[in-house]
This record gives sequence, C-alpha cells and structure tokens, in this order.
Amino acid sequence: MEQTSHLVVSAATRYADVVLPLALSQTYTYRIPEELVGSVKVGVRVEVQFGKKRLFTGIVQRVHGDTPEYAVTKFVISVLDETPIVFEQQLALWNWMASYYLSTIGEVMHAALPANFKLSSETRVTLGPLFHQDPGLLSDKEYLVAEALSIQEELSIEDIQGILDQKTVYPIIKSLLDKRIIYLQEEMQEKYQPKQVWCVRFAAGYMGADGPTPEVFELVKNAEKQERTLLALWQLSRQQEFVRQAELVKTAGTDTSVVKALVKKGILETWERAISRIGSYEEDTVDAQELSTQQVAALHQISTLFEQKEVVLLHGVTGSGKTRVYMELMQEAIAKGQQVLYMLPEIALTTQITERVRKVLGNDVLVYHSRLNHNERVELWNKVKSGHAAVVGPRSALFMPYTNLSLVIVDEEHDPSYKQRDPSPRYHGRDTALVLARQFGAKVLLGTATPSLESYFNAQSGKYGLVKMQERFGGVALPEIVIADKRKARLEQRLHNHFTADLLDALRGALAKGEQAILFQNRRGYAPSYRCPSCDWRSTCINCDVSLTYHKFKEQLKCHYCGYSSRLPEACPACGSTQLVMQGFGTEKIEDELLIFLPEARVGRMDLDTVKGKNAHAKIIGAFEDGEIDILVGTQMVTKGLDFERVGVVGVLSADQLLQFPDFRAAERAFQLMVQVAGRAGRKHRQGKVIIQVEDARHPVIGEVVEGVFSRFYQREIQEREQFAYPPFYRLIRITLKHTVPKTVNDAMQLYAHWLRQELGDSLLGPAVPLIGRVRTWYLLDVMVKIDRNDNARLAWVKTRIRIANDKLLQTKGFSGVRIAVDVDP
Ligand code: ADP
Ligand code: ZN
Ligand code: ZN
Repeated sequence: MEQTSHLVVSAATRYADVVLPLALSQTYTYRIPEELVGSVKVGVRVEVQFGKKRLFTGIVQRVHGDTPEYAVTKFVISVLDETPIVFEQQLALWNWMASYYLSTIGEVMHAALPANFKLSSETRVTLGPLFHQDPGLLSDKEYLVAEALSIQEELSIEDIQGILDQKTVYPIIKSLLDKRIIYLQEEMQEKYQPKQVWCVRFAAGYMGADGPTPEVFELVKNAEKQERTLLALWQLSRQQEFVRQAELVKTAGTDTSVVKALVKKGILETWERAISRIGSYEEDTVDAQELSTQQVAALHQISTLFEQKEVVLLHGVTGSGKTRVYMELMQEAIAKGQQVLYMLPEIALTTQITERVRKVLGNDVLVYHSRLNHNERVELWNKVKSGHAAVVGPRSALFMPYTNLSLVIVDEEHDPSYKQRDPSPRYHGRDTALVLARQFGAKVLLGTATPSLESYFNAQSGKYGLVKMQERFGGVALPEIVIADKRKARLEQRLHNHFTADLLDALRGALAKGEQAILFQNRRGYAPSYRCPSCDWRSTCINCDVSLTYHKFKEQLKCHYCGYSSRLPEACPACGSTQLVMQGFGTEKIEDELLIFLPEARVGRMDLDTVKGKNAHAKIIGAFEDGEIDILVGTQMVTKGLDFERVGVVGVLSADQLLQFPDFRAAERAFQLMVQVAGRAGRKHRQGKVIIQVEDARHPVIGEVVEGVFSRFYQREIQEREQFAYPPFYRLIRITLKHTVPKTVNDAMQLYAHWLRQELGDSLLGPAVPLIGRVRTWYLLDVMVKIDRNDNARLAWVKTRIRIANDKLLQTKGFSGVRIAVDVDP
C-alpha cells in the first residue's frame, strides 16, 4: 500500500523534515497525516519509507507548512516516541559536525544514537530472558512477536511484518525493546547478561514489623558470629530495600560461610537480584582526599579564569594530581544540580581513573564504556536526558542528551585518539566538546602534562586561560631522564640485542630494590619485517602495502591493517634461500629477550595482542599493581594515565622509531609519548629514572625531553609549524580517494585534483600516494588543502568547492564506485 499525497494540500497541511541514518547530505520532507499532527514533534522518531521498499526510523528535525517540491510526498507512517529522544541542542551539534567535518547529518546521527534507537529494514531482533518470566504485560501483537521468537532464534523486520500481517511494525518493536522483552541482534557484542548480585533477607516468619522475632535469637544463642550477622542484617535492612550479601558480611565482620549456615537453619534466604550495570556502584564510596596547596591554588585560578574565559588549559606535570582537581570541580557542579562531562581519550585504557572517580562520586557518575550493551546505552541515555549529574566517557559521550551541562573536562587533551579516523564523521572529541560547551554556555577544562600545540597556542594568545601545576603531588621530584646512545654502546660492545648496558643495569638495580619497571616499544609482535637478504624479498600483505609482522607466539606473519595472516615460509618464495631474517623488533621480542638477560624477573606484556579478552587489560594492570609482575612491556598503552606506586625505572627502547614517522605531528607525538611514559616513573615515594635509548641522539626533541621544559619544546616546534604553514596556523583538509582498481583511482584523482586546483590554486597539495598506498585491497591517493586558520570565509568557500567536486566525481561515468574520505583537521 503506497501512500502518497498528490491529493488535497490545504494551508493547514504539515510536513516534517526527517534525518535518516544514511549518508545523505540533506533531510527529507514527509507529509504528516492528520491523525499524527499532534504527535510529530522535533526530536521524536518517526517511521518513514525511503526508496522503493526500505523503512527507516528517522529523527524529526523540523515541523513546518512549506510544501516541498517533490512530485509525490510520502507520508510519515508512524511515530515511535511520545517525547523527544534528542533535544534541539543535540540536533544543532549534529548539524555543526556535519558541516564542519564535511560529513552528512545522517552519518552523524548514526554515530550519535544508540543502536536501539535506529530501527531499519536491516534490523534483526532476538528474545531476551524476561519473556518467560513475565509475559503478562504484552499486547496481543507484542505477544505474537515474542512467541515467534521463542521458537525462532531471530527475526527480521520482514518476518515480523509477515507474522503480524501488517506493514507498520516499528512501534511494536520499539515497545518490546522498551519492555526488554526483545533485544537487537548484537553481532559483535556479547549477549545481554544482566549483572546479578546475591542478596540476603530473613526467611518468612522470622521478621516482624519491628524487627526479627525473639525466637530467631534463641536459634543462634551459642553462635556469636551468626548472631552478629543477624543483627547486622536487621540494621542494614532498615536502611536499604535490598541487602547485598557482600555488604552484610563486611558489616558483620564475618564471611559467607556464616550466611550459608543461617540459610541452612532456615532463618535466612539468599536470592539473586538482577541489577543494571550502569549507575550501580556496589562499593562504599570514600571521601575525596584532602586537597594539596597546589590543588587549592589551581582550583582558585581555574574558577577565577572561568569568570572571563570559556576554556582553561590545566598544564600540570605528570603526577601533579590533576584528577583530584577534576573531581572537586565535578562535585561542585553536582552540588549545584548541574551536569558535567568528564571525557577521557580511551575509556577502556583508563579503568584506573574511572575507578578513582567512582570511588568518590559513586552513583552520581555514570560511566559510558564500550562494554555496555544496547539496552544499557539506552538506559544511560535516558538518565542523562532526565538530568543525571555526571558522565565519564570517551568522545562518543558528547552525543548524550544533556539538558543542563555546565562543565566539560577533557583529560589528556593532547591524545590523538580523541580524533575519529573512520568512519565519517571524522571528528575531534576535544574540538567538538568546545562547540558543545558553547551551546550550553558551559565551561571547558583541558588537562594534560603535554599540551597539544593547538591548545598551548590558544593559551599563549590569551584565548584560553592557563593554569600550571609544576610540582608532583607529595613533592616527589620528576624522574631523572638519561639518554642511552645505542650507536656508542654498539661500538663499545655494551649493546645486548636491543638493550644497552645502561638500561639493563638500571633494571637490575630496580629489581634489587624491589621496584618495578615499564618498558615502552611502540610496535607489537616479534619483528615488523621478515625478509630474504639474498634477493630482497619481503613478506608483504596480499591486501595492503605493508610488511607482515612476525608473531612468535602464534608462529604467524600478520598484517596489522587488515588482519590477514600467513604461515612462516621455510624458504624464500622468490629465490629459495633458507636464510630468511627478521628485522626490527616489537614488544613480543623484548619480552623474549628479558628472559635471557633478566631470567629472574616476572615479565608482563600489554599491547593489542594481550588485551583482547574480556577485562584482559584490567587484569594486567591489576597484576602489575599487586606486584605480580616486575617488568611491564608495552606499546603506547603503557603511556596512558597509569598510576603505579613502585615503578622505579622506565625505559624507552627506541626513540628513533617515534621521531622518524613522516608526519608533521611526529615530533609533537614523540615528545608527548616520551614525557608521558617517563611520567609513570617514581610517582609516589622516590625519584624515578628514565632511560631513553636512541641511535641518533642529536634530534632536538631528545634534548627537550631530557630537559623536561615544555615551553622550550613548544618554542621550537611552533616556529616550524609557522614556517611550513601547518596547524595551528593553518587548517588542513585531507581528501583521500579509494578504489580497488589502481587505474580508476588514478584517473579519478587526476580529474578531481584538476577541478580543485582550478579553484584553489596553490593551496591544494598533491596528489600523492599516502604512507600506505593500499589498505584492505583499496588503492589510495591523497590531496591536501591548506587554509589560513583565521580565514573563516575561505574555509566555508573551500568546503563548498569540495562538496561540489565530490558530487561531480561520483556522477562522472566510471567513477561512481570511487570512495571519497574527507578528513578535516587530520
Ligand atoms: P596526574 O593526573 O596529574 O598525573 P594524579 O591525579 O594521578 O596525577 O595524582 C598523582 C598521585 O597523587 C595519585 O596516586 C593520586 O592518588 C595522588 N594524589 C593526588 N592528589 C592527592 C591528594 N589531594 N591527596 C592524596 N593523594 C593525592
Ligand atoms: Zn593487510
Ligand atoms: Zn630470496
């Protein structure tokens, strides 16, 4: 049944502009049928048809009376929400992102909304455990769907349309999702497992209106621990509805065997209660630690600066106690009933910080982490929408429906993982946070020990306020940093495989004192390349232009870009030589070599290969915290905000590799990584020691890291940026064309670059083959545009030119299959 409106259009006819979760550069206008006029509001989801057959839920962005110029205007089919799920402010942010990052509003919507909110023809659903427990709440139609699901594992939208014999099924699916009877099929994620906790209560008959019955205490007369447990339970059940077993034994100072004994006597009952994993902090909260003088001073400066500035940069050395400052600000906002967003670059890597914050703020803070399933995401979304105070999360937490945001904290603001690389919108979490905050008139605090050039530049120019914390908490000195020259060591025969004698000595010294060590090598696997010295054959990926990395544990050669793997060849496939060699080294090899040089040390490794399993990352950190690991070897994961007490030595195995990266940010990145990893040393008690191994010690960044004066690094680096017209002086837009046929991408780029060059002239650079010219069978070519940072009019004009060129290219015969990826501020 096709509904169209070539019928009567009266002055009162209403239309809705709808955002669809597709890469469309505009919204589509649908006519609102009379009976839905009252229900179609900005921010609610509506069901609409797009294309011949497909049904989507989209978000209403505008309701109006302007008749669109379509030949036929389709009707809104149904309305899913009574109240908006996003507010105008979110929609405004989506529009800003789409425009600034040359993305589409549909792509932004897709990134912004939890999956449960995005029903489409592709949606598949499964049955959750609640159906069998409580089917009573369902309507007849809902029951039909749920019952079909109890026979069949999953259903598609089409199946459900068939079962109900009707086209419009989204409202029913939505209702079943809300009631948690069904779940969206979660392909990659674990199946929904509500968290269960054991609770304890008095068995029937043993609890009266004013306490346990007297006979209860008769029954435990000679068992003092049991009596204590019962008294504790009585006391706790007066304060809370459900008493957790863990809390009971803690309060009573007993253990679970006592509870078991009481259950056996029939006095108590234990039962499992399902709890939501969000907003249910199970431990006792603690008071925040007392502020240090430096923290008090910083807080004072921050609030003074906030009177005039929207943004303050908190530049505090590693271990200065920035987290405590953030917590104070969060508590202040919470006390005033305002919302705070505390953003971290990678939430999975920052469990330590999240736990510290939760310990103090308890359930006032919601943690938006990647392990939440679709339902929990919706739960969290709704809590924020109804004004819940504080959220800790990664960049995607920016999309939450805040109502009353007063502060955004961007921790480790320099961290490159704030930038989304793929898919579009390729947005920067920090920069988007600034825009979000401006919408709410909220303040932004950027915190780091190693500011990004962009933020420090803004602080220098007075656009941002600047607050410094130059001492470590507790007055511990910053670590001593020394250079270990690998070339020299090699000549003096003081280089043992990848370890200089200096580093080995320092490690031995630390172990002897009962201290721990961290070793940083920014490559995982055993060796990044496997080659034949006779004919120069190299193991390369079949899909990408990269060498395969040798992984010893799995006896495999692996591609880090597409996951392709192959067995180790016994002889060179090109010339038959059996003398194949490995080149370079990764974390796995360092771990191996430690076994030779420091056989008594217990070594742990933290890189993408070891943190894959559930909670694996937290387990490694826990083992290191508990002293079960002496030396932790890892990639840049070990540089991120970790706080350990007994790390005496930090070693950087190869600084060269960080500095040689062909990117204008390489020096900045190398500086940040080295200072951050160095900052893990000697945080609590004694001054730590950092050893940086390098082949060529003359690189200026090496000296700057040793000196440890950020402004010295900044002064030199900012001049280079200015001289070579890079950010923060210029804005960059990189456009990558991709195709699986090299000739197609070449021809397409020729044409594309020609068009743009005609308009943009010399500000267009390239085309060039990027560092890795083929990834996952796609051949890539880049062009780059540079635009003066202060020339906003030109920026807008350039973006329009790019959009036009993109459309034109895709409409050109032979190039419709070319993929175009635009990256603003790459
Ligand atoms: P940063 O984030 O600046 O590197 P942290 O916030 O991790 O520093 O603080 C460094 C260490 O000092 C942590 O172990 C933290 O628990 C401790 N610390 C910070 N502030 C206080 C305080 N006011 N009282 C007690 N310990 C503190
Ligand atoms: Zn590959
Ligand atoms: Zn060979």
